[in-house]
Amino acid sequence: MKTMTKKERVFNALNRQEVDRPPVANPTSVATVEMMDLVDAPFPEACRSAELNARLAATEITEFDFDAIAPYFSIIQESSAIGCDMQWEQKDNWPTVRMSNPIWQGSSDVKVPKDFLEHKDTKVIIDSIKILRKEFGNDIPIIGKTMGPWTLAYHVFGVEKFLLGTIDNPSETKLALEKLKEFTYLFGEAQIDAGADILTVPDHATGDLVSGQYYKTFLQELHTEMAENFKVPLILHICGRTVDRMPAISETGMHAFHFDSKNKPEEAMNAVQNKIALVGNINNPETLYSKNTIEVKKEVFDCLNAGVQIIAPECAIPLKTKSENLIAITEGVSDWLSEHNKN
Ligand SMILES: [Zn+2]
Repeated sequence: MKTMTKKERVFNALNRQEVDRPPVANPTSVATVEMMDLVDAPFPEACRSAELNARLAATEITEFDFDAIAPYFSIIQESSAIGCDMQWEQKDNWPTVRMSNPIWQGSSDVKVPKDFLEHKDTKVIIDSIKILRKEFGNDIPIIGKTMGPWTLAYHVFGVEKFLLGTIDNPSETKLALEKLKEFTYLFGEAQIDAGADILTVPDHATGDLVSGQYYKTFLQELHTEMAENFKVPLILHICGRTVDRMPAISETGMHAFHFDSKNKPEEAMNAVQNKIALVGNINNPETLYSKNTIEVKKEVFDCLNAGVQIIAPECAIPLKTKSENLIAITEGVSDWLSEHNKN
């Protein structure tokens, strides 16, 4: 098969079509402290300056030879622009929202600030995408990221209060999600206009916090609508054990689901019945963070043997992940291919 560009490869994989080699792409983040030092773009500045952001994001191609660039490293850029109480942290920690101090009480408080897309912390991602598009041309796919309403609800209402509300007053929860989705659309569209080819939508209705039925009740319809409305392929990201909601996720019309290592590749592939592509699921806290390249490659093989379409760490990688373990992901794909072609 003729060699594909990275973009052709990733798009074919997203559409569950044939590829010259399975692509490696993390839809969340591969920022590491080692790369921050290499290109002099440390956190938190690399989350707040477009130039530093683009420089750090580019290492995904220049150092690891992955098949896509994802410049949004955390999950808080919109929440900062909305006005949440922020903890920006240092180089070795992701910025977070101080959820003990929520800004809103209920759906009637949800309003899009006038300057939402001009705010420093949303603009940085939009401008970084423009820089990366210019630098890398059209052959390398850029994956933008826009938070889903469930994730935003945690940030603006506080996790506990929001989850209690789903039991006490589910119609109020639905109303809040309906209003919050406006942010998902605005930020997503702005990134597409800036040059994003694909969008990740993290919407953390994780197995540790809510049941699969929750996904059907509160999110399936919203996600189906997003898949219809956005003009680019969407990758849904939910961490944790999610195999119980994968059949519902596979019906949304989104192109791919980024899944966690708490779900085995084979059972995940069975759950989605080839109705959506899967992206994942190399374990972060143990394998990438503290094991060696042999064990990383073993997990790459497990994914490829199961038929997972895009190989990736399960989520944003730990910031102190060693480069050799990331390079081992791409090498693992090459090893698998040469073994495969021998037979
Ligand atoms: Zn995650």
